[in-house]
Amino acid sequence: MKEIDGKQVLVCDDCKKPIKPTYDADRGFVSPESDKVKLSEVMGFPAVEAVATVVCRSCYLDAFKRFYPGKKVPYLAPEIEERV
Ligand SMILES: [Zn+2]
Repeated sequence: MKEIDGKQVLVCDDCKKPIKPTYDADRGFVSPESDKVKLSEVMGFPAVEAVATVVCRSCYLDAFKRFYPGKKVPYLAPEIEERV
């Protein structure tokens, strides 16, 4: 999450651009490369938390190709273009 023009905007963890909602995912995609962990504390005890890497549609497709080389990429609905 990042604040842009006073609004909380979900940004892609890969390209750092705001994530555009798509017709079947309005909160971005969890990258298959999500393997980050974050050190945190739970009630005063150290803990390790898995952190999902949330990416936009095009970064998801790139990550999928890197993670599953040679596999057919999944169909993802197109991004919803902003209409102002
Ligand atoms: Zn991206």
